[in-house]
Amino acid sequence: MKFYNSLTNKKENLKFENNLVKMYTCGPTVYYYPHIGNMRAYIFMDLLRKSLKFCGYEINGVLNITDVGHLVSDADEGEDKIELMAKKEKKDPYEISKFYTNCFFEDCKRLNIELPEHIAKATEHINDMIEFIKDLEKKGYTYKIDDGIYFDIKKFPNYGALSGIDLDKKGINRIEENPQKHHPFDFVLWKFVPKEHIMKWDSPWGIGCPGWHIECSAMGEKYLGDKIDIHTGGIDHKSIHHENEIAQSDAKEGHKVVKCWMHTEFLQVNGGKMSKSLGNLYTLDQLIEKGYSPLDFRYMNLLTHYRKSLNFTFDSLNASKVALKSLKKLAFEHKNSTSLTDKNILAKYEEFFKNAISDDLNIPLAIGIVWKLLKNETKSKDVYNLLLKFDKVLSLDLDKLEEYYEEIPDEIIKLAELRKKERLAKNWTESDNLRNIIESKGYIIKDIKENYEILKK
Ligand code: AMP
Ligand code: ZN
Repeated sequence: MKFYNSLTNKKENLKFENNLVKMYTCGPTVYYYPHIGNMRAYIFMDLLRKSLKFCGYEINGVLNITDVGHLVSDADEGEDKIELMAKKEKKDPYEISKFYTNCFFEDCKRLNIELPEHIAKATEHINDMIEFIKDLEKKGYTYKIDDGIYFDIKKFPNYGALSGIDLDKKGINRIEENPQKHHPFDFVLWKFVPKEHIMKWDSPWGIGCPGWHIECSAMGEKYLGDKIDIHTGGIDHKSIHHENEIAQSDAKEGHKVVKCWMHTEFLQVNGGKMSKSLGNLYTLDQLIEKGYSPLDFRYMNLLTHYRKSLNFTFDSLNASKVALKSLKKLAFEHKNSTSLTDKNILAKYEEFFKNAISDDLNIPLAIGIVWKLLKNETKSKDVYNLLLKFDKVLSLDLDKLEEYYEEIPDEIIKLAELRKKERLAKNWTESDNLRNIIESKGYIIKDIKENYEILKK
């Protein structure tokens, strides 16, 4: 399979040892409801995992839950996002993170996002992080200042390779500089926290909490070892969080830990940024309240390649809803047909589908192939069965058509089979009588060559 590697800026043919893909995905910071932009990043993760499986690979995946350490700015300024929300809502930070973690899982479930093999909460891995920092300290990559232990990026000559940052250009993405830092891009590994902080732990350097970036390096290594095949995340993580992860992990191991970095572009709203202040930040619940199903939103995501920004509008969501409904109707018609399809034709479609998903996860192309299959081929159960195979990747619940269209009762199928016999024997009167009976019971029969299709009136 070929994937675009953000580190080399080109598509690469990836080889996986023992057919196993070790994959890490940066998870949510659980201080608020996930928005539909966040969920785009996890729909991408899901499509990637399922495409790899479709192509015969096994996956060992990790998704972290950031329930401590993510400060208001990604560059280590301000308060911890969860502590801040806990203060605002006058709740315990653990209560906050538990509540929003469950909201995230609920959204994943509704969007048919399969959770990776390991869900790793930062607060449950503090010791792993401390050990990781101790190792970096031993190797000379850290220094201590008043507010914490920092990573010294000048000791890691490769710093900035992922996003091509100009290290001498001061202040990029850095809100405020801490004058004690050796370099503005140095980042915190262990942050000392005031006494009133609720989330705090003892460490060889004093009481504090881990920096945000260290959790992904430490938990990635714990579950996947020092060689990770694919690391995913939203594009906003590329220039800070992932640069810092690379610095920590590669400095500790002395070699490149992650082979391929894959980044999802942003979901925008009406062509602009989605933000609370603009009032255009939507959650899945809000879409449901407006009459859309989570899978309408999932379908919408399938139409844009993950490396292109996706412009969310209600018009396009509506178009997706209509399209998904027609797709299901066509699927239903194939399901209820008794015709067969040539195996070679089916194999061709399967090959096209596989080629599309193997080419840097070209899901929009794969969707085009699905439409062609359903529209151009004669209605047949074989087509439906192939569609179900494709749905293992797409996850549009194409096996649950009963929700939308009633199954054809056995009685009608028996009548239709009887009519087919009469028709083939050219017993036209009998055949017409049977058609009338079928119609009187609310079904229409459409002849297709020697076969037929039953539709509900
Ligand atoms: P956070 O909870 O802020 O750590 O974000 C969780 C994931 O959502 C990260 O991978 C982000 O890069 C991603 N993300 C945030 N906003 C958007 C957006 N508008 N579109 C797509 N992905 C996003
Ligand atoms: Zn991360």
